[in-house]
Amino acid sequence: MLPFDVHEIRKDFPILLESVHGKPLIYFDNGASSQKPTRVIDRITHYYEHEHSNVHRGVHYLSFTATQAYEAARQAVARFIGSSTPQEIVFTKGTTDGINTVAYSFGETLKAGDEILITGMEHHSNIVPWQLLCERRGLILKVLPVLENGTLDLAKLDHLLSERTAIVSLVHVSNTLGTVNPVKEIIEKAHAVGAKVLLDAAQSIQHLPINVQALDCDFLVFSGHKVFAPTGIGVLYAKHALLESMPPYQGGGDMIERVTFEKTTYAPVPLKFEAGTPNISGAIALGEAFAFLESIDLPGAYEHEATLGKYLRLRMKEIPGVRFIGDAPETCSTLSFLVGNLHPSDLGTLLDQQGIAVRTGHHCTQPLMTQFQIPGTVRASLAFYNTLKEIDNFIHALERAIKLLA
Ligand code: PLP
Repeated sequence: MLPFDVHEIRKDFPILLESVHGKPLIYFDNGASSQKPTRVIDRITHYYEHEHSNVHRGVHYLSFTATQAYEAARQAVARFIGSSTPQEIVFTKGTTDGINTVAYSFGETLKAGDEILITGMEHHSNIVPWQLLCERRGLILKVLPVLENGTLDLAKLDHLLSERTAIVSLVHVSNTLGTVNPVKEIIEKAHAVGAKVLLDAAQSIQHLPINVQALDCDFLVFSGHKVFAPTGIGVLYAKHALLESMPPYQGGGDMIERVTFEKTTYAPVPLKFEAGTPNISGAIALGEAFAFLESIDLPGAYEHEATLGKYLRLRMKEIPGVRFIGDAPETCSTLSFLVGNLHPSDLGTLLDQQGIAVRTGHHCTQPLMTQFQIPGTVRASLAFYNTLKEIDNFIHALERAIKLLA
């Protein structure tokens, strides 16, 4: 395997050659969705040209081929996140779908008065499903606060955890602040009171090595599109015994063993949680994205990205009036900021005119915006295919935008 070389890796991502408004694209919106390497795009075409049929229920050649490729993708996911068995991998539509599955199914096993602990930096998809569950079953939602520097107020954790806590559901890496949370420590503390832990790995799956057994999390969810795979596919990892104990989320084809009008028995896990025809090409492409990551010098890629993240923060500090929203000691290459009292969307529009894609707004974390008393932020979120030169160009473009608006 060759050492990581950003200029070589960029050749794998055709979209990076695009121009936007006549300028070379600088894609700093990887937190919202990552770009796709050629081999992932080609894998989808190959599947539809040579392998497509429905999975799991055919006796013919193509059904067998599609099923094999789909189940091989499940194995690839299990291997990549360190699960001991593909039976612990449920294919979902994405992070949101994974959290809703757990909130509904695991939620069915809880009783009125049980507590759910989330944090103040959660994406709406890790807030609303729990609120719905609380309303449905009389549970209580508690929130671990966020400090001014964008870290969790861990001093309050012991106070908020109790034997009433059924589950702690938290983000591994904040999509808005870039903070990397000390999840191992939180998982240990939650387990000490008998609570389960769900990790929202939507933003960590692309940036950090993940091993579910080393972390000892009970559930972990992520979206394929954040990790170089297509939209519409995601993963719910859950410990085998938990999946066995939870009722299905949806009923339908594929998730059953036997159906009579009197009673239905369910397929073994993970199929019990995959009702209906799944996103077969998406799952296969997700497996291909992990095969791609395993084929490159991933530690070298992580190191390059860490260098980019540090360089971005350093260069941003040179710009007068810049305020970071969240400045935790441990962050990944995502940075939210404001400049004086300029509106984030004005800055975003002027950056776009210079070919630069950043995201502006509340980033689906409105409670965090309320806490910081801001309407939104500008967010630059990097991936390992970004370069130091792109950061320099971004800084120049930002300075130009500030001058125009001032
Ligand atoms: N959680 C976090 C931390 C995210 O960043 C996102 C997407 O931005 C989600 C959840 C929701 O992901 P999806 O819309 O792919 O379900």
